[in-house]
Amino acid sequence: MKVKRYDYAGQFGEQLDDVVNTFRTILLDGSYILSTQVERFEDMFARFLRMPHVLGVNSGTDALILALMACEIGPGDEVITAANTFYATVAAICMVGATPVLVDPNPETFLIEPVAIARAVSKRTKAIVPVHLYGKACPLREILAIAESVRAYVIEDAAQAHGASSSTGEVAGTQGHIGCFSFHPSKNLAAAGDAGAVCTASEDLASRLRMLRALGQRRQNEHLLVGINSKLDALQAVVLSAKLPSLTAWNSERMRIAALYREQLSDTPVEFQRIDSGEQHVFHLFQIRTSQRDALLSYLTSRGIEAAIRYPTPIHLQPAFADLGLEAGQFPVAEALADELLALPIRPGMSNEEIAYVTTTIGSFWRAR
Ligand SMILES: *Cc1c(COP(=O)(O)O)cnc(C)c1O
Repeated sequence: MKVKRYDYAGQFGEQLDDVVNTFRTILLDGSYILSTQVERFEDMFARFLRMPHVLGVNSGTDALILALMACEIGPGDEVITAANTFYATVAAICMVGATPVLVDPNPETFLIEPVAIARAVSKRTKAIVPVHLYGKACPLREILAIAESVRAYVIEDAAQAHGASSSTGEVAGTQGHIGCFSFHPSKNLAAAGDAGAVCTASEDLASRLRMLRALGQRRQNEHLLVGINSKLDALQAVVLSAKLPSLTAWNSERMRIAALYREQLSDTPVEFQRIDSGEQHVFHLFQIRTSQRDALLSYLTSRGIEAAIRYPTPIHLQPAFADLGLEAGQFPVAEALADELLALPIRPGMSNEEIAYVTTTIGSFWRAR
């Protein structure tokens, strides 16, 4: 049996012909840039998040860069984020010239923790970037309180958490000054290529973001800011608009699969990311934790199961960030998670047989030891 990580044909379902027909119209009439298709998706996603302003951009990475630019964060400023995040969070901070300040995550939630943020705060702290890793929402209330006390911005990296909410009901990406989303094909809401979005409740930040994504222009040839060129593509907007109405059902399906995994793996030695009562974890990744990770990965791979390591190298040990002068041993939890986490396949449409095949294969791995 093969257990795949993605099913793009399944995501389009019966809408494929409509999407292709809309592509044909767009290709022929030339409405490629910031067209009504882009506005339509921005409106739909704004309604989904219940946010007044959503702007489509080129990628999740650009969403983060634009958010930092909109908050005027740059050289000399410190930005606090998680040591176990994906590379792009930290690259964005470096791209605007600011200094990333890494924080070791909580070993149970795998997320950045308010107490650790409070310890990392300095006079130069200009922003905090909580990352809702694997689809679990960070405790934003406490993080916002810390940010407020030092007058720092909160920029949420919600690239893995479309529709997630915490046990106190806050929707990921909507509580900070700016929320950043990715629609990379691997994410819960997937474009057919790179795409991303920023959201904000602030009129002021929205108008800066609108200019910054379009070469700093207020209108054609009137450039008020030094911006970049990072607009959501009209064709990607069509794909995203077709899929967004299914996102809530897809997230529920991910939760159902995760619950089955947890139940069926409960008598194996693997550990899980903590789930808090009342939260909506949207399981962008279903991570299991074991010291036998590498052996288990090859065991599963050789049996047709597409498990994957996300992410094998923590930020402070990535060559790109060598200039930060950080060393092995400084973030022990991030290092342990990098060595021990394994992402099992999870995707809407996964059958009970596939789930049972994955869990019985993991069971037989332990019996064979
Ligand atoms: C995917 C991802 C990004 C970057 O998004 P892209 O669209 O690939 O640029 C940033 N942060 C996190 C946590 C991600 O998972």
